[in-house]
Amino acid sequence: MIYVGNHISSSKGFEAMGKQALKLGANSFAFFTRNPRGGAAKEIIPKDVEAFLALAKEHKWGKLVAHAPYTMNPCSDKPSVREFAWRVFGEDLERMEYIPGNYYNFHPGSHVGQGTEMGIDWIIRMLNTHLKPEQHTTVLLETMAGKGSEIGGSFQELRAIWDGVMEKEKLGICLDTCHVWDAGYDIRDHLEAVVEEFDQVIGLDHLKALHVNDSQNPMGARKDRHARIGEGHIGKEAFGRIVRHPVLGKLPMILETPNDDEGWTGEIALFRQMAEAPLA
Ligand code: FE
Ligand code: FE
Ligand code: ZN
Repeated sequence: MIYVGNHISSSKGFEAMGKQALKLGANSFAFFTRNPRGGAAKEIIPKDVEAFLALAKEHKWGKLVAHAPYTMNPCSDKPSVREFAWRVFGEDLERMEYIPGNYYNFHPGSHVGQGTEMGIDWIIRMLNTHLKPEQHTTVLLETMAGKGSEIGGSFQELRAIWDGVMEKEKLGICLDTCHVWDAGYDIRDHLEAVVEEFDQVIGLDHLKALHVNDSQNPMGARKDRHARIGEGHIGKEAFGRIVRHPVLGKLPMILETPNDDEGWTGEIALFRQMAEAPLA
């Protein structure tokens, strides 16, 4: 059993999102907690949430991977940007309690010239402000491509954040295949070595979800341009090895590929097919 799906628009509410997932053949998926550019969160309608939770139970969906807005930069050099990010983060975690037991993924942020150490410190402070022992959501730090002053382009940087966080049981990692590839981790030809390095630096049991994207650029390019599965530099065979990996293949796999419904339906089917295909 694998858990695979794509990023689904949440603009029409929870139930509509669940129905869309069913249409595409997904049994796990991602959604933005609000407009990806930030802005006000939509009102939560209890009946809508109820219908959604019933669907999730009926179809035995895996964990959902909510995504924080892209504009959230918890380690900005500008206090107003930081405050906005921290407020959004806190509000979103409160909203996530309506669908308990799922994941909330966010980009650690960009230090914009303050230096990595300062940036990491701001991220830790936000996490220590908002992670509560009683919450039912696990927050995920996403591995980043390391473009510009982005934090999270190395496993060591994520580990440094981890070290400073008090509520460690509420924290995990989401590995984005395009991002780690662009950051210089060779998941195409040396997957096991990368997994081992992750295990040594962070610990494999802290890896909770995957973003499965091919990359438009060669390894180490630090660009972060997603490609459809098999149409980039990582290639279909590498995703076959990922989905059949004893640890990686059990995690929720979220497609963030430049696609339409037909394309995602095909990619979801491809992952199921690759999960069953014998090892090449
Ligand atoms: Fe992301
Ligand atoms: Fe991603
Ligand atoms: Zn990306």
